[in-house]
Amino acid sequence: MVTNVGLSEKIPAYVREIIGRLNAGGFPAYAVGGCVRDLLLGRVPRDWDVTTAAPGQRVRELFEKTVPTGARFGTVTVILPEGSAEVTTFRQDGPYRDHRRPQSVEYVSSLSHDLARRDFTVNAMAMDAAGQITDPFGGRADLERRLLRCVGDPARRFSEDALRMLRGLRLSAELDFAIEKNTLAAIRELASGVHVLSGERVREELFRTVCSPRPQTAGRMVEYGLLSPYLTGPGASAPWERLTAVPDGLKMPVLAVLMALAGETRDAGELLRSLRCTAREAKLASAAGALAGELSCREEDIRLALSCHDIPTVLCASGALGFYAAAQRLARQGRFVTPRDLAISGDDLRALGLVGPEIGRLLASLARCVTLGEAENRREALLPLARQLMSDR
Ligand code: ATP
Ligand code: MG
Repeated sequence: MVTNVGLSEKIPAYVREIIGRLNAGGFPAYAVGGCVRDLLLGRVPRDWDVTTAAPGQRVRELFEKTVPTGARFGTVTVILPEGSAEVTTFRQDGPYRDHRRPQSVEYVSSLSHDLARRDFTVNAMAMDAAGQITDPFGGRADLERRLLRCVGDPARRFSEDALRMLRGLRLSAELDFAIEKNTLAAIRELASGVHVLSGERVREELFRTVCSPRPQTAGRMVEYGLLSPYLTGPGASAPWERLTAVPDGLKMPVLAVLMALAGETRDAGELLRSLRCTAREAKLASAAGALAGELSCREEDIRLALSCHDIPTVLCASGALGFYAAAQRLARQGRFVTPRDLAISGDDLRALGLVGPEIGRLLASLARCVTLGEAENRREALLPLARQLMSDR
């Protein structure tokens, strides 16, 4: 064990309070997993996990506000005014069902058994209230080497739970860690095991990967076959670095368009639906996928696209084609006119004898002309132009 008093001070007061109250109740308790890893790396943990010898029922008695988030696995969320933490009773996992979840869990009295069920050595460390670290699998040494290594036999650990393979790649992208040789070999060998996972869980890891500073790691997921249940193509490479310029809210639709352009999916929207993204994201991806086939980085082309597609569609297609920043600048400048901005409306065209979808098409043509500076946005200019375009058709 290594003592590091300075570290315990980095644990937020409310997490220390949770550990302290469990200790006062007679139960060992530790911060554990990713939060300890991140503290040692000097990163801000995303969430706080506490592991304790206290059974779930005792945890619920010791705190006023708790939610039994994973009662079957002994997890209780403890809510204090300043924040919450997941408190889990020491456990080891029973045999695994479906390569996804253990059939049963067994509560154990020792911290080291609990650490042994965790996925990677750097995620298998615990820290007590005094900052003492328990590290039975060499997690600290792997942190220094910036290496992700399975706890135990990688093939066994990935067969138990296929999500760990995606977590491994996602963590390597977020932390800029390499994956240890045997761990990586097992991922390559067992990648097809991911077919048992739900779209939501795959999406979460993929999304976090493309939001990381190394979105190209998603390309390794494709290469190893970790996304094969969702892709139909040959595993082509794609210009993943383009995702860096795109805001997080557009990353999944842009990723889907990249995959459509690389021939990995028939339809970008379909890919997102299978990954259980929102209907809005899927619709956006389909529209942007269609636009990407005809859009170029010429300023005039982008302004024309802005005149007849909504802004997110143009930004999404531009993001996939590698000119997100230019499209965003042009969208902000507003030097384009949409059919809705025109000085004439569908009713005017109806009065000229047009019906149905022809009206929308002609309004779009007029908006293009105004955007290109070929016509002024005034009724007196647009009505004759509309008549002329109608007679040209
Ligand atoms: P982050 O919070 O940044 O996503 P994390 O490693 O903390 O990363 P969590 O989902 O918060 O991920 O999980 C907390 C800890 O629980 C992990 O560090 C690891 O010890 C353990 N853990 C999570 N998922 C698994 C899994 N599928 N198999 C084994 N252990 C896991
Ligand atoms: Mg965490």
